[in-house]
Amino acid sequence: MIHKTYIDQLQTWDKQYLWHPFTQMQDYGKETPLIIEEGSGIFLRDIDGKEYIDGVSSMWCNIHGHRKKEIDDAIKRQLDKIAHTTLLGPSNIPAIELAKKLAEVAPHGLKKVFYSDNGSTANEVALKMAFQYWQHKGYSEKTQFVALQYGYHGDTIATMGVGGIDIYHKVFQPLYFKTHFAPAPYCYRCPLGKQDRDCSLQCLDELEGLLKNNAAQIAAMIMEPLVQGAGGMIIHPKGYLSGARALCKKYNVLFILDEVLTGFGRTGKMFACLHEDVVPDIMALSKGINGGYMPLAATLATEEIYNAFLGKYAELKTFFHGHTYTGNPLGCAAALASMELFEKERILENLAPKITYLQTRLKQFESLEHVGNVRQCGLIAAIELVKDKSTKEPYPWEERVGNQVCLEARKHGLLIRPLGHIIVSMPPLSIKEHELNRLLNIMYESVKIVTMKND
Ligand SMILES: *Cc1c(COP(=O)(O)O)cnc(C)c1O
Repeated sequence: MIHKTYIDQLQTWDKQYLWHPFTQMQDYGKETPLIIEEGSGIFLRDIDGKEYIDGVSSMWCNIHGHRKKEIDDAIKRQLDKIAHTTLLGPSNIPAIELAKKLAEVAPHGLKKVFYSDNGSTANEVALKMAFQYWQHKGYSEKTQFVALQYGYHGDTIATMGVGGIDIYHKVFQPLYFKTHFAPAPYCYRCPLGKQDRDCSLQCLDELEGLLKNNAAQIAAMIMEPLVQGAGGMIIHPKGYLSGARALCKKYNVLFILDEVLTGFGRTGKMFACLHEDVVPDIMALSKGINGGYMPLAATLATEEIYNAFLGKYAELKTFFHGHTYTGNPLGCAAALASMELFEKERILENLAPKITYLQTRLKQFESLEHVGNVRQCGLIAAIELVKDKSTKEPYPWEERVGNQVCLEARKHGLLIRPLGHIIVSMPPLSIKEHELNRLLNIMYESVKIVTMKND
C-alpha cells in the first residue's frame, strides 16, 4: 500500500507538472486525480486500492487483459537480450519475425511492413507513401486526399488534415493540405436525410461524384473501416466499405484503411476489412498490435506500392522516413506473444458468443428515454444520448452529459471515457460474459441516473 502522505504528494505533482492529453487542465485542477497503480485481467486498481473494470481497454488498446503472463514473459525474455536497437540499417529478431507474421495474417497482398510508434505515425507514413508513389509513377499532380467527415486519423498536422472532427481539427485549418471530405455514412443522422428503408447507400454516390470530378488530383482516400471511432463510434452500413473500395479502384485512387482501432479482433474478425473481403493498398495498424502493452505501429503496403520505391540510390526514390524507436524489439516481442495468444486461446472463435450476448443486452438501453441510438460492432458498443428522442436533438455539448455518466460509472467501479454525449464501451477481448454483464449493469444504471437527474 502506498502511504497516505505520498498519495497526496502524487496528486499534487500530477496537477503541478503533468499536462494531460485531450484534457481541459483548468477543470482537471478542480478534481481529485485518478491515479492507476496496477491492473490485472480486465481490472485496474488505483493508488487507494479501489478497483475498476477497464471498460475502454485503456484507450482502445488492451486485448488480452493486463498482466497477461505470456506477454509479460515475452517482454522479460527480450529484455534479457536487448531493449532497443535501431532499424535504420541493422535489423533485429522480433521485428523480422513480427513482419512475417503480420504479412501472413493481413488481407492477401499486403506483404510489406513499415514500423513506427503510434496510430498517427502509421497513418502519416501511409499518406506519405501514397503521395510519393504517384510522384514515382509520373502522376505529379496527384497531391490531394479524400477522407470522411467525422474521420479521425491522429494528431499530427497531416493526419489532422484528413480528420473530420471540427472541435479538434478546425483551429489548425490553415496548416493543412487539400483534402476533399465525403459525407460519413452516419445512419442515425443520415447526411442525406434518408431512413433505413429508403437507403441504397446514396452516400456512395456523393463519394463517386467527388472522385469523378477530382480523380486527376487525388492520390488516395483514407478511411476507418466499419467503425469511425473518435468521431462517435459511427458504424457503417453493410456495403459502404466495399463500395468505397470499388470506387477508388475505378478512379485510379489509392485506398488507405486506418485499422488502428478496428484491427486485431475488435470488430469480431482479425481486421475489419475482412468483413467485406476488401484489401486496401495500404493499411495502418497500432492500438491492439501488441495487446495494448507499449507503443508500436505498422503500415502495411502491397508489393505494387513497395516496388515503385525501388531504384538506384541517385534516383532518390528511397522512402526517407523513419522514427528513432521504429521496430523496437520489446514492442515487437510483445506483439508476437499477442499474435500467438490469438491462436492458442482461439480469441476470435471465443468472441462470437460474447458479441451475441452484448447485442442482446444492448436492447435494454433502447427503452431509456434519453437514448437516441444504440450501435454495436464486434465488442464495441456506443450509446448516443439525446435531449429529445423524437427530434434527435442533442444535449448541449457544454453540459457534458457523457462525462457525467462516466463519473457516475466510476463511482460504481467502471472506467469508461465518452465521446461527447456518446457513451462508449470497448472492453478487452478477454472479458468474460459475467464481467460483461457487470459492466453493462453499471453502464445502464449510470445512464439512467444521470439522464433522469438532468430532466
Ligand atoms: C487512436 C487512433 C489513431 C491515432 O493513434 P495514436 O496512437 O493516438 O496516434 C488513428 N486512427 C484511429 C482510427 C484511431 O482510433
